[in-house]
Formats: sequence, structure tokens, C-alpha cells
Amino acid sequence: MTCPICEAHKIGKDIIAQTEHWILRKAPEDKNLNGYCYLESKKHVENWQLLSLEECQDFGNILHKGLEASLVLPSSPDKVYFAAIAEAVPHLHMHLVPRYQNHSKGIGHLEQALGPGFLKAL
Ligand SMILES: [Zn+2]
Repeated sequence: MTCPICEAHKIGKDIIAQTEHWILRKAPEDKNLNGYCYLESKKHVENWQLLSLEECQDFGNILHKGLEASLVLPSSPDKVYFAAIAEAVPHLHMHLVPRYQNHSKGIGHLEQALGPGFLKAL
């Protein structure tokens, strides 16, 4: 089975930044959420427990790049939510989901963002 994250990395699609072990990549436009992005391991790995100490430490570097990127958005989000499930697409990744002032707070916002997404562009 082809991994959509590995395929996106091969063609360099929507890559914002990278570190030695991680890639920060913009979420697709159909998410309709400005600043939504993913932190993805460069290697195809399906369990967080399989990461080395060095890979875990480098995760802090890509997380910082993702949060920096959220600060330069045209409208800065009130908060940035994190979600890491990796079941539908098993390649390790974390969702960085901005929550803006006009959004509901909490898990409902994550469900809307990770699911079909928002009905209109923000
Ligand atoms: Zn993969």
C-alpha cells in the first residue's frame, strides 16, 4: 500500500520547513483552516515508541518551527491545538490545528478540523 505522506515527501509537496528527522507540511486547502499543518517523521514509522531519543529530541525543533509559522499568519490564532492519532494514515504525524477567536473551544474544534473540515474558508 502506498503511503500518502511518503509520497508527498518524495515530491516535496507543501513542505514549509524541515529538520534532520521531521517535516513541517501545510495541510490541504480543503481543510479550509488557515495555518493548519502537519509535523511528519521523515522515515516511515508507525509507532511513537519506535523513535530514537535523537528523533524525539529533534521533534522539539520541528514543533518550534510549526509554532513560529503560526505566529506569522495574517491573523494569529488564539491557540494551536495538537492531535496525533495516525490510524487512518499510519505514518507518524501530528496535526497542528489553529483555533481562531470565532471558533468553538475544545475537542469539538479538533473533531471538525480533523474530520471533513470546515464548510467555508476562514
Ligand atoms: Zn509513510
